Amino acid sequence: MPNADLPSYLSRENVGPWETYLEQVERVAPHLERAYLPWIETLRRPKRSLIVDVPIKLDNGEVAHFEGYRVHHNLSRGPGKGGIRYHPDVTLSEVMALAAWMTIKNAVVQVPYGGAKGGVRVDPKQLSLAELERLTRRYASELNILLGPDRDIPAPDINTNEQVMAWIMDTYSANQGGTATGVVTGKPLALGGSLGRRDATGRGVFIAAREAARRLNLPIEGARVAVQGFGNVGEAAARIFAENGARVVALQDDTGTLHRETGIDVAAARAHRAQTGGLHGCVNADAVSAEAFWQVPCDFLIPAAVENQITEANAGAIRAKVVVEGANGPTTPAADLLLQARGITVVPDVIANAGGVTVSYFEWVQDISSFFWSEMEINQRLDRILTEAFSGIWNVSQARSLPLRTAAFVIGCNRVLEARVLRGLYP
Ligand code: NAD
Repeated sequence: MPNADLPSYLSRENVGPWETYLEQVERVAPHLERAYLPWIETLRRPKRSLIVDVPIKLDNGEVAHFEGYRVHHNLSRGPGKGGIRYHPDVTLSEVMALAAWMTIKNAVVQVPYGGAKGGVRVDPKQLSLAELERLTRRYASELNILLGPDRDIPAPDINTNEQVMAWIMDTYSANQGGTATGVVTGKPLALGGSLGRRDATGRGVFIAAREAARRLNLPIEGARVAVQGFGNVGEAAARIFAENGARVVALQDDTGTLHRETGIDVAAARAHRAQTGGLHGCVNADAVSAEAFWQVPCDFLIPAAVENQITEANAGAIRAKVVVEGANGPTTPAADLLLQARGITVVPDVIANAGGVTVSYFEWVQDISSFFWSEMEINQRLDRILTEAFSGIWNVSQARSLPLRTAAFVIGCNRVLEARVLRGLYP
């Protein structure tokens, strides 16, 4: 049913991630510091967007061309920071939205970065390892005019991993004539990576959920959890929830959906994925339809795959108490209002998945200082930063009767605009 509270340009089927982000800015605008309002247009316009052609030689000798992007949404608070995604659906407007959410997220957790994001429109599953390396190195070379430890620092996102980051680091270093470990994060430990980075985003999802649960009087012990996406974020989140006594009752990836009321063995699901490439065919739970995932009764629903998964079409059927956004932009603006009306708490992406960039920041600090921390130190510092950031958001939400997303945007946007105003306009 069309939502009367939504502007008409946000037709239900037509909402892309960039429109979702613009709508989030509209919703926060009345709550920002008045002195910053003349600068709000800054948030609606990416600072710069680079579109690159990425030609590579395939193993069969033919040349294939792929389109790649890197967007600097806002650099007022520091160098650009944000992941690189390889996916057949990547578009410039998607990358713009992902970069913008990085701007807000970095400000919310107070890491000294602006917001950036990159992507290549490619299905990496169709490439050999050698082709993937050539694609990555060519893309990294094309981005060379933007990258640098004090300019723009990529990290992994969907379908990119430590190996891809190692190739980017090596390509940048070769072009510069020296080893520059601080140019990317999410690297292998052997190349200046950080302990705790691999699990950081999923761990952060758990910490944000735990902080929400504490305030809502929901116990984690015995809680039912449903996780969409069983990659870097979803797998770690599911595992850490289970380690803390929760029951993972549903899992979904792009190959299948699993349900078991008594709890899915996450380690067995992970082993199955390692063998077969996905959850499809995993025998330790019942296979159900993709739509059934959204109707599973649970305490915590964790979308940790791609954007636009919780929409007007399924938000009414969701039977969760709390939605914790492991993915970026998984909830459309219309679905957000529906969940709010139904009394379902949404812990927004800009805090829920900020664990990744927080430990990326730790990795960058360690690389720059060439001094490495223990995993315990990293996890403790991560916990402290996310707990404090969550607390700030919760307090604004309570004091001003705002949903958590708008409260997070109040904090993030005010910080970005404060930096913008202080820097002034040049020339
Ligand atoms: P990944 O490539 O490791 O895993 C993605 C998972 O999502 C896979 O299991 C895939 O099968 C599943 N998936 C993809 N499309 C799906 C669909 N339509 N339905 C169901 N499942 C689907 O990616 P990731 O790094 O885990 O990223 C997941 C999300 O988390 C993205 O939105 C990303 O931007 C966000 N995120 C990632 C990080 C990070 O550190 N990797 C940090 C912050 C946010």
